[in-house]
Amino acid sequence: MSDIAENLSRIKERIAQAAARAGRSVESVKLVAVTKTVDAPRIQEAIAAVVTDIGENYVQEAETKWREIGDSANWHFIGHLQRNKARAAVRFFSLIQSVDSLDLAKEIGRRAANLEKIQDVLIEVRISEEATKFGVVPEKALSFAGEIAGIEGLRVLGMMGMAPFLPDPEDSRPYFAALRKIWDKLPEEQRLYLSMGMTADFEVAIEEGANMVRIGTAIFGPRTA
Ligand SMILES: *Cc1c(COP(=O)(O)O)cnc(C)c1O
Repeated sequence: MSDIAENLSRIKERIAQAAARAGRSVESVKLVAVTKTVDAPRIQEAIAAVVTDIGENYVQEAETKWREIGDSANWHFIGHLQRNKARAAVRFFSLIQSVDSLDLAKEIGRRAANLEKIQDVLIEVRISEEATKFGVVPEKALSFAGEIAGIEGLRVLGMMGMAPFLPDPEDSRPYFAALRKIWDKLPEEQRLYLSMGMTADFEVAIEEGANMVRIGTAIFGPRTA
């Protein structure tokens, strides 16, 4: 087995164990392999192993790889999306995980509608001041979900959040629990995905209800670029 395939089988096992602790099956947790800075051949290796979903932070970098890899995996956008990149993004991302403003939501909807596509999105919630400067503040997350629910070309399928980088993943638990509480209040048709947990903290995130985790380093090794 290659390093990547080996890493993936170890991660799948850890996901299964965390899911079991939460009384759920491994199938209930979708793994998004985060491939920023990872080249197309190594991404292909991951797809050949078990990966069905990949996450990218930059539209242009992702588009270059998408031209090589195509739709043999589902593409997730997990970075900060600028409005002027919405048109390119809706062409090939199946899930945009980082919608955090009405303007961006409208632009995504407009661009998707032009392609006669319905773009699936998650709302990024800023559960931690330290982790990222993007995202809707928790107090506004549910009203924001209501606000963008009716936009043509757009479908809200859940929420995404990032905990701060803390040496002990246990310390991330309250952040994940807080997002779970908000997510629970979404209307049922918007309550499909709760995307939280990365290499350092995905097991705690799953225990707190994540059904989508975004993992890069543990699969591909440390990013050098
Ligand atoms: C880079 C990134 C990840 C993956 O981080 P790792 O620590 O390498 O697993 C997950 N989510 C977002 C939003 C990222 O930017």
